[in-house]
Amino acid sequence: MNNNPYKVIPGEIYDIVQESPLIRTLRIRPERPIPFKTGQFIELSLPDIGEGPFTPSSSHFISDVMDVTIMKTGFLTDHIHQTKKGDRIGIRGPFGSNYPLDKFAGKDLLILGGGCGLAPLRSLFLTLIHEIEKYKSITFLAGAKSPKDCLFKESVEEWRRYSKVKFLRTVDEVPSDEKWSETVGVATVLLKEVKIDPKTSPAVVCGPPIMMKYGTMDLLKLGFREENIYLSMEKKMYCGFGQCRHCVIGEHYACKDGPVFPYSQIKNEEDIWE
Ligand SMILES: Cc1cc2nc3c(=O)[nH]c(=O)nc-3n(C[C@H](O)[C@H](O)[C@H](O)COP(=O)(O)OP(=O)(O)OC[C@H]3O[C@@H](n4cnc5c(N)ncnc54)[C@H](O)[C@@H]3O)c2cc1C
Repeated sequence: MNNNPYKVIPGEIYDIVQESPLIRTLRIRPERPIPFKTGQFIELSLPDIGEGPFTPSSSHFISDVMDVTIMKTGFLTDHIHQTKKGDRIGIRGPFGSNYPLDKFAGKDLLILGGGCGLAPLRSLFLTLIHEIEKYKSITFLAGAKSPKDCLFKESVEEWRRYSKVKFLRTVDEVPSDEKWSETVGVATVLLKEVKIDPKTSPAVVCGPPIMMKYGTMDLLKLGFREENIYLSMEKKMYCGFGQCRHCVIGEHYACKDGPVFPYSQIKNEEDIWE
């Protein structure tokens, strides 16, 4: 990363994809490449508005441009959603831990995500398929509230063409004016489709806290090992590198020890699902 963690690298938004009513992907060209490892996060800033942590949703094999997928939830993200092609945006980082790809090599990998939690998981998935020969298989289970809330719709068919990839989607409900021919139910219902050996397979989970909690509990019931379940923890954080202490999880800092933690490392800490 940068030697100076406070240094903001300016970038230009060169494209915007409206993924769902509340979520859009900004495609950013920074003034200089920003190498990162999949799972790490950056701090994104708008002048005179503020700054917040977000995870790149693009492959870590690409560093001259970066996708960031952002849900509108409040003041900062509302302003980010008002940006247009050609606008400037600042990037600090990258910060924090990444997904341990070396531990995934040669394995059947399970990815479970919901809502905007699919942002870092898209980065992971695109990074994995860049070197698909290294992995035995990838089962990617994705949840959304309704069909119109599904992310990365334009990529689904392409992702399903990989023989080693099983990509399944579910939605919580199907409003009468929307069409859907895939599963209906919360993200964890897709776990019954998992055919890989839980004892030896790594699993990666990211999504709303309630999904992370029940997803992890269900994975444990299926026989996945605590140390093989990787969680992306989205605690409230500001500085990004362990100075402001907003993101402590017990004795860990979500920003510098995480955001990616094996469940075994944080399972005894209080309030990890809040
Ligand atoms: C490591 C990490 C990666 C993240 N990656 C993404 C991502 O890829 N896409 C995405 O849409 N969101 C991501 N988030 C969440 C994102 O940072 C917040 O939604 C955003 O900062 C909210 O700012 P706001 O002013 O719009 O909302 P606010 O009105 O301030 O708050 C809305 C919600 O966002 C939470 N929030 C506010 N400030 C922060 C903060 N500094 N850190 C974390 N949460 C905050 C609040 O607790 C509240 O639940 C990530 C958070 C973390 C910690």
